[in-house]
Amino acid sequence: MVRIFTSPSRYIQGYNVIKDFGKYISHLGSKPFIIGGKTALSTIRESVSKSVAENAMECDFAMFSGKGTRSDATDLAKKAASFGADIIVGAGGGLVLDTAKAVTYEMNLPITMVPTVASTDAPCSAAALQYTEDHQLDRVITLKRNPDVVIADSKIIAEAPTRFFVAGMGDTLSTWFEAYTCIKSGRKNFAGGMITAIGLSIARLAYDTLLEYGISAKLAVDQNAVTPAVEMVIEANTLLSSIGFENCGLGAAHSIAIGLGTLEGAHKCLHGELVGFSIIANLVLENYLRNEINQVIGFCSTVGLPISLEQLGVKDTSRANLLKAAEIACHPDQFMKSLSFEVTPDLVVDSVIGANALGVSYQP
Ligand SMILES: [Zn+2]
Repeated sequence: MVRIFTSPSRYIQGYNVIKDFGKYISHLGSKPFIIGGKTALSTIRESVSKSVAENAMECDFAMFSGKGTRSDATDLAKKAASFGADIIVGAGGGLVLDTAKAVTYEMNLPITMVPTVASTDAPCSAAALQYTEDHQLDRVITLKRNPDVVIADSKIIAEAPTRFFVAGMGDTLSTWFEAYTCIKSGRKNFAGGMITAIGLSIARLAYDTLLEYGISAKLAVDQNAVTPAVEMVIEANTLLSSIGFENCGLGAAHSIAIGLGTLEGAHKCLHGELVGFSIIANLVLENYLRNEINQVIGFCSTVGLPISLEQLGVKDTSRANLLKAAEIACHPDQFMKSLSFEVTPDLVVDSVIGANALGVSYQP
């Protein structure tokens, strides 16, 4: 019964914190190599360059426009090595951050994450996804430790499109329910240990934070405003959801989301949008009480997360089509094994149909 808790070493969040970038990472080294997408680099370049110079450091930037493949990581690692980098920095969304982690995985250097959207769990977790040239999942790598420093600038995140912020809430919405599934079945977490009290509390806090602040935060982000509610939800999406899932585990919602994401029409959805609908199917599958399901559907509907297959973009709602997604959801590599009872593809299809019916018939 070994209990393990894991987390990033330092998490920094606030309005315009990027201006002190150098100060926050100076204990890690003096030559950061910064990998970012086009938008992220143009947003942070000036502040980062100034701050690095103020702290007697030297940095180099690399524009990332790849697919997150193994060869992308190898190419970037070569560039970082020729610069003499002693810190790897990822700036942007999930794909860029995961690629920066993959570079660190090859070079064994400290890593700093600068998320410019609050849509994924990538900034704080030790795991990174790598993809094939044709955008299929290649492998999941796990760093020896979680990121050393995470710098979440709430001004930058609030100015990014609201859709990312809302998708992040979809991903965060599932953390508590999947954690609860895992504690019931006694599964090990992603750190390879039993769930700690703090891990479980963080997962619950993620859910409670969304219910309390999610709607007002979304409305503020629509106006690019950083209110205290926005700060709460950025923390929930970026820190709580990430270490919540890593320290507790995943279950039906993520498995169903991965399955549904392969269906025609749904491939344009963000990860958190797929999880947002899939958590409703998860609750149906695990036979949650009506009030709890209604609360989740009401939340999704109000903030603009999909509550039906049509809203996910899935036009073919036939049983045969849904069964393709359900078979992927029940694949042994997915997380359905976290449930304490046997889940068949047919049960997943019925739960998705049931969730869709609830979503379609939902009246605010
Ligand atoms: Zn997720």
